[in-house]
Amino acid sequence: MQRDHQIVIVGGGMVGAALAARLGHAGVNVGLVERGDAPVKPEGDFDLRISSLNARSLAFIKAGGTSIPPERSHVFRRIEGFSQNGRGHSVFTAEESGLENFGCFVENKALRYALWQRLERLPGVTRYTRCAPLSTVAGSEARLLELDNGKTLSAALVVAADGAHSRLREMAGIDVSRYDYRQRALITNVETELASEETSWQCFTPTGPMALLPLPGHCASLIWYDRDGTTRAREMLSDDALARAIEAAFPKRLGNILRVTGRASFPIKRQHAKRYIGKRLALIGDAAHVVHPLAGQGLNIGLHDADTLAEQILARRDAGNAGTLRRFEVKRRLANQAMLAATDGFHHLFTGPRPLQKLGDCGLEMAERLPAARYFMSRQANGLSPFTPRR
Ligand SMILES: Cc1cc2nc3c(=O)[nH]c(=O)nc-3n(C[C@H](O)[C@H](O)[C@H](O)COP(=O)(O)OP(=O)(O)OC[C@H]3O[C@@H](n4cnc5c(N)ncnc54)[C@H](O)[C@@H]3O)c2cc1C
Repeated sequence: MQRDHQIVIVGGGMVGAALAARLGHAGVNVGLVERGDAPVKPEGDFDLRISSLNARSLAFIKAGGTSIPPERSHVFRRIEGFSQNGRGHSVFTAEESGLENFGCFVENKALRYALWQRLERLPGVTRYTRCAPLSTVAGSEARLLELDNGKTLSAALVVAADGAHSRLREMAGIDVSRYDYRQRALITNVETELASEETSWQCFTPTGPMALLPLPGHCASLIWYDRDGTTRAREMLSDDALARAIEAAFPKRLGNILRVTGRASFPIKRQHAKRYIGKRLALIGDAAHVVHPLAGQGLNIGLHDADTLAEQILARRDAGNAGTLRRFEVKRRLANQAMLAATDGFHHLFTGPRPLQKLGDCGLEMAERLPAARYFMSRQANGLSPFTPRR
């Protein structure tokens, strides 16, 4: 049967573009449909949206031939977690987990730009920008996608990577379960007196965690979770008042806050698709799941979906075959369900009633005293087997 592409991916965010690069790099004929424009090169100050990439995600991106821009990313080798009341404290180092580093923090815009630059050099990848699907129908050998620019595309498999509000998921009639944490995250970039070096700081408070994520030099990205109204009020503060509020709430590990630049806030929700697959259709990334960002895993698990799906596609002749898709779903749904439960547990441990908060403090102290527990947790968070013996 003549099809326009072997695979059509809808959504050219970081997850969809990474899958297109991996498949295109392996010689697969891919169509990438994106409703926006191709990304432009970020310059100047770091954007507010930063993500951590763990070892497995970095390996997947590299396997598609994309390099992480070193000037817009920062490696981290140490994670220090503590509770605001000072009762719980734990330090994780990459070295004791048998890793060179824990990965890096990268500017979302820079990663997306690097991926799209890679796609431009892949002859098997066609990019369709400024268009979106209007309707879709699956036959026995292909799925058709009618686009709002008048084109119709056919492929053995259509992949929905169109984010949390996925239209494609809706069109396929796949339902989601949702939970509202009634929290909002404030994001701002800060300049600190001391260099953040290679440590990611996580401070747990009864109203939500705060994280200072290292960027090059004396810069860091701050994410501060709290109740909706409190976060909105902080967002309205002057730069100076916000800097003083951060100093008051976050232990002065990095000295004074010299400057804050930009701010934005996001509601915190959890969402999970009831199925990841349909007839000649697969869901990946935020289209399939949205996790609490406190553990910095949303993008990582989206890239792990793409990695697993690429493995299945490259190993079989018919990419959209029901068996291929089932294998993908079984592997990823279980892993993602575990991540959703773990981040949920973390959230409730530190923001729940006092006995739970005490348990959270004990957990941090136990991790501090048990190297094996730290090893297990950091390998898991890196998408690596915790059962590989230490070097
Ligand atoms: C505050 C915060 C901090 C976070 N920090 C981290 C972190 O440190 N580490 C981490 O791993 N994750 C983190 N995450 C999660 C991470 O940002 C998301 O999981 C990730 O961006 C999802 O990528 P995606 O490509 O699946 O979806 P998106 O980034 O939403 O991309 C979807 C793409 O599809 C396009 N699109 C949408 N609809 C259509 C349509 N109908 N037709 C065509 N195209 C369409 C969009 O234009 C977009 O390009 C964080 C999230 C938040 C809110």
